Amino acid sequence: MKYYSTNQTVPQVSLMEAVTKGLAADNGLFMPERIDAFSSDFFDQIQKMSFQEISFEVAKKFFGEDVPEQTLKDLVYDTLCFDCPVVKVQESVYSLELFHGPTLAFKDVGGRFMARLLGHFLKGFSKEVNVLVATSGDTGSAVANGFLNVPGIKVYVLYPKGLVSDIQEKQFTTLGCNITALEVNGTFDDCQRLVKSAFLDEELNKAMVLTSANSINVARFLPQSFYYFNAYARLRQAGVKGDLVFSVPSGNFGNLTAGLFAKAMGLPVKRFIAANNENDIVYQYLKTGKYEPRASVSTIANAMDVGAPSNFARILDLYHQSHDQISSDMVGYRYSDTEIRETMKQVFEEENYMLDPHGAVGYRALKADLKKGEVGVFLETAHPAKFTETVESVLGKGTVVLPEKLEAFMKGEKLSIGLSTEFADFKKFLFNK
Ligand SMILES: *Cc1c(COP(=O)(O)O)cnc(C)c1O
Repeated sequence: MKYYSTNQTVPQVSLMEAVTKGLAADNGLFMPERIDAFSSDFFDQIQKMSFQEISFEVAKKFFGEDVPEQTLKDLVYDTLCFDCPVVKVQESVYSLELFHGPTLAFKDVGGRFMARLLGHFLKGFSKEVNVLVATSGDTGSAVANGFLNVPGIKVYVLYPKGLVSDIQEKQFTTLGCNITALEVNGTFDDCQRLVKSAFLDEELNKAMVLTSANSINVARFLPQSFYYFNAYARLRQAGVKGDLVFSVPSGNFGNLTAGLFAKAMGLPVKRFIAANNENDIVYQYLKTGKYEPRASVSTIANAMDVGAPSNFARILDLYHQSHDQISSDMVGYRYSDTEIRETMKQVFEEENYMLDPHGAVGYRALKADLKKGEVGVFLETAHPAKFTETVESVLGKGTVVLPEKLEAFMKGEKLSIGLSTEFADFKKFLFNK
């Protein structure tokens, strides 16, 4: 399958090129040339299939032409060494728990798949590939853990000094091996700028292969459609009837866009809810038809603090730039930190369900929008323990129990290299590594 750029000014490329380049040469995002739909037979059978079986069928639609069947099956099964269960929170309201992976965030699915796919493509490739990731917390840990010990790949995680939580920091600074953590004396925006400058630097790109592992990369983004199919299957299996509505707490909109792809493949979804924190660029777009990116503001749902959502270009492309068409599949909500806290507290007290700040945004938007006869699923994108400080400040000290996986990370020793915000320093580092 070929991939085209959303900017449409450069030729189509192969999957391998799309994955190793990350971004198209004209700065557009790669899109698959076709989205193949499933037949109704597939949806008649889906409730009998496991998460892994379903995901393999979805993966074949995207990657089946480029990866041998058995290899693809191994890639999918190896990626999904954990489940994404659907948990009932209330009548007609379900949580799709995406936090059972190694770093307890949904990004594990895409991070692990991308690492394995890139590893497959690099067999017999003589050059080493350098993956650069800027992170405000969750992306770095999912990508670093996904790529740990994958031959031929070196990962550099750039993160802002003092601005990620202890737990998040431990998850990518204690790994060693092919993972290097770079502690930048600046903000997340500085980290992102350093990475972008590296991709645009001719000298660096002549000397080494550089790629990104954010949701702009198709290998990270497309597998995120797997769990939407799984949610549908598990609800059908449980005999739950009604039109399906997904609420997606969103930042860069990779997750939500993957859901739109699932719908385009025939998954019966009535609509999607784009749930924002105060960084409400898409909410405003849905209201006014104007897309106006701006600088991000910090909130307690910090993985969604994005002022220029990168996957929005994919949504526009998928719907032929039509605000009407986009609005018929998507509605928007946005919530303040106060409202997020309120929701976490209420759901814990009334339903005995612990939300993390991101999931809380999704839950609240779903409750506001769900109509009679519909079944709502919100994506619970991270384990509450990843945000222990915030969660306990709302629900009380001692309410959060640290899962074993996190405790193991907390025991590791932090290894990171300090970096200034000057691109010249980063460039020198990459040349001398
Ligand atoms: C990354 C992340 C999000 C936002 O996902 P996008 O695909 O960027 O919209 C939401 N919640 C958590 C916990 C995340 O880590």
